[in-house]
Amino acid sequence: MQKNSNIAYTRKCCVCNKQLFGRSDKVFCDIHCKNKYHQDVRKHTHSVASNNIKILNRNYVILIQLLGVKGKKITINKLALQELKFDFSTVSGFEKTKLGIKMKVYEISWYYTTHDNIVIFQNNDQRLLSPYVYKRWEMQWQQKQTQTPIELNNYS
Ligand SMILES: [Zn+2]
Repeated sequence: MQKNSNIAYTRKCCVCNKQLFGRSDKVFCDIHCKNKYHQDVRKHTHSVASNNIKILNRNYVILIQLLGVKGKKITINKLALQELKFDFSTVSGFEKTKLGIKMKVYEISWYYTTHDNIVIFQNNDQRLLSPYVYKRWEMQWQQKQTQTPIELNNYS
């Protein structure tokens, strides 16, 4: 008993450093510190996740714009995609095939082919967005093309 109360004496709340009493597995002094702790963890997780989602969504917009202009399957050089600020390391999934690995950005897939070219195609399970979204992207894409022309290599 003496030992246990000594241990209890040295335990502190990880948020406010207040001394902890009671159960040995207690981490927080009260519900406010517990809430503050979980709020902070959530805030951090959310900011990390939302940053990745932003990159993923930007990738998606780039790919859908390219497909919208050129068709359901296109081939583009890696440098042209880089110029559009496409992030090659951020994907929503992978698909291992006989020919190699296909990267996925939602319902769009892309993979490396010869001479640093990249094939982009839309999967059949495409979900249609609002037509306004496509219209907006189309208009933005046309605007972008007149500002900074991008070389597209369409081999497909
Ligand atoms: Zn506390």
